[in-house]
Amino acid sequence: MLISLEEARRRVAGLRALADPCRLCPRLCGARRLAGETGFCRAGARLRVASWAAHRGEEPPISGTRGSGTIFASHCTLRCLFCQNFPFSQLGTGQEMAVPDLAGHMLQLARRGVHNINLVTPTPQAPFLLEAFLEAREQGLDLPLVYNTSGYESLEVLTLLDGLVDIYLPDLKYADDEAAAAISGVADYVAHDRAAIVEMFRQVGPLQLDAAGLATRGLIVRHLVLPGGRQGTRASFEWLRSALGTEVQVSLMCQYFPAWRAPQTPGFDRRLTDDEYLEAIETVDGLGFTNVWAQDPTEVGGA
Ligand code: SF4
Repeated sequence: MLISLEEARRRVAGLRALADPCRLCPRLCGARRLAGETGFCRAGARLRVASWAAHRGEEPPISGTRGSGTIFASHCTLRCLFCQNFPFSQLGTGQEMAVPDLAGHMLQLARRGVHNINLVTPTPQAPFLLEAFLEAREQGLDLPLVYNTSGYESLEVLTLLDGLVDIYLPDLKYADDEAAAAISGVADYVAHDRAAIVEMFRQVGPLQLDAAGLATRGLIVRHLVLPGGRQGTRASFEWLRSALGTEVQVSLMCQYFPAWRAPQTPGFDRRLTDDEYLEAIETVDGLGFTNVWAQDPTEVGGA
């Protein structure tokens, strides 16, 4: 975190103001969240968290040797038909908890040696999650903060996160809104995702590692390969190359499996083939990207 705790507190107050009426994501529902109303994402007035644990399925500089301190927040602003986290992202399972309790869990994870605090799908609950992070900082937490997001973000929120977040881990899911609408239930993903990635890079820059190879700051762009190539790898990476160049750190993921509504959806009811994944890797390599992580299909996991 690059800003003072006092400034960070002001930012979190700004996030809280954006929650009522809610403009925390580009859907701009306007739900009176703090009065108990819920909007599209179904998040409410209280923090709800599905799990908190040392997670080893992230990219190597995030998971390191002792794991990433991963906080899986309930609720999501998207409706990906294949979501592997659907019990808490779509159905809202999880545990309501007070902010100080989550701060305590973060401190406990730090004592267990995790390398960072990793907020997964944080956007609908950003005020509460960041408040917990600051409370833990006040009690001695000294770890980088990872913001692990679908990329469907508003610039107003990202501006408040400038200096608070150390590592952005956004998805670059789709290259066209038709696919985004059909597969993830979001009509205006592409423009928001691209603007968000550019702003994130402006804030944190290229990925930086410490002497042990752990991420300390920077941007990692994630791209999940889907069956049938609906993710639009070529168009997405042509855009990324024109926007940020070819040295940006990229994570190409093959962990797709048919979860949630995918088993009943033609075309999404199977795993990726090796050829589909290989084609995506070759496309990104062929466009000149130099910092690309690929997954081993036999060892996939993730957040
Ligand atoms: S975060 Fe949720 S309630 Fe707020 S604008 Fe987005 S979908 Fe609506």
